[in-house]
Amino acid sequence: MLEKLETMRQEAENDLQSITDLQTLQKVKHDWLSKAGKVTELLKAIPTLEPEQRRPFGIGANEIKTMLTERLNALEEQLLDSAGSDLKLDLTIPGFDFTRGGLHPTRQMRDDLNQAFLSLGFEIYNGAQITTEQSAFDNLNFKPDHPARETMDTYWIAGTEQKSAKERYCLRPHLTGASVDYLKEHGAPARFVYPGMVYRNESTDPGHERAFYQYEALIVEKDFSFASGRLLIDTILERVFGKPIETRMRAGFFPFVEPGFEIDMRCQVCGGKGCGVCKYVGWIEIMPGGVPHPNVLLAAGLDPMEWSGFYINIGLDRLVMMRYGIDDVRLFHSADLRFLEQFK
Ligand SMILES: [Zn+2]
Repeated sequence: MLEKLETMRQEAENDLQSITDLQTLQKVKHDWLSKAGKVTELLKAIPTLEPEQRRPFGIGANEIKTMLTERLNALEEQLLDSAGSDLKLDLTIPGFDFTRGGLHPTRQMRDDLNQAFLSLGFEIYNGAQITTEQSAFDNLNFKPDHPARETMDTYWIAGTEQKSAKERYCLRPHLTGASVDYLKEHGAPARFVYPGMVYRNESTDPGHERAFYQYEALIVEKDFSFASGRLLIDTILERVFGKPIETRMRAGFFPFVEPGFEIDMRCQVCGGKGCGVCKYVGWIEIMPGGVPHPNVLLAAGLDPMEWSGFYINIGLDRLVMMRYGIDDVRLFHSADLRFLEQFK
């Protein structure tokens, strides 16, 4: 029987020699070490042997088993390693191109303005998109027959058109209503910005959209001079454009301010020579504002004899047009990737 053991050892050695790849290795492993394999057969035979042969036979069979297990494991590792090197790794091939999104240029401008105002101690406030006639007009000193209250200019919510004040709802036509809401909540002194989308019922052209972003800021203090306001505007514009921006201030009229003004900036599209965006005057109106009207302060629960302040309303889309030299505001809402991908 011990000769049989020697024959099996030789056979195992031959099988190991024949291994050239993982497939033949798996076959040899199965032939010898599986439940029905040759090693198992040898071990099963032990109880049938003469008692004095059992021990040496058992030792021999286990030696074959250990030898096979160790050699097969080593070979497998070797073959797996060399299989890896067949993958031909080329580190110079360009990787997968992932499509990345980007922030809309108006959003980027809003974020930049937020940063500029935050650094000057302003708070950011979010007003409601659907508001009332009281908040959008009454509180802001709009006369009862003001044309902005007409259906032609404002989107009134169906079913409430015939009502008035608190019961007549609209999409906010401007942000200013939120200023009184904020002051009622937080009181004065206050300095805050309240950016957002506003809605106007008007026909579109290269300079006008039905829905567009605005960015309004308000300071309410006991004593705030026009000169300080002008300095604030110049500081903000310089932060956002990264260079001093030429501006001019004109008198303007808005129901919620007294006195009111208009800030124009040099048209950055044409550099002041005149183009379609600036209607060939070289200046573009970007920012109306003024001192809060006494009636507005009263609506906010503040004494106009005690409090004063400074409003500015920044045309966000126009500022983006100036930043990049864009000549058609309608591109912003076109969802045209050829346009938007330029701002990533
Ligand atoms: Zn221009």
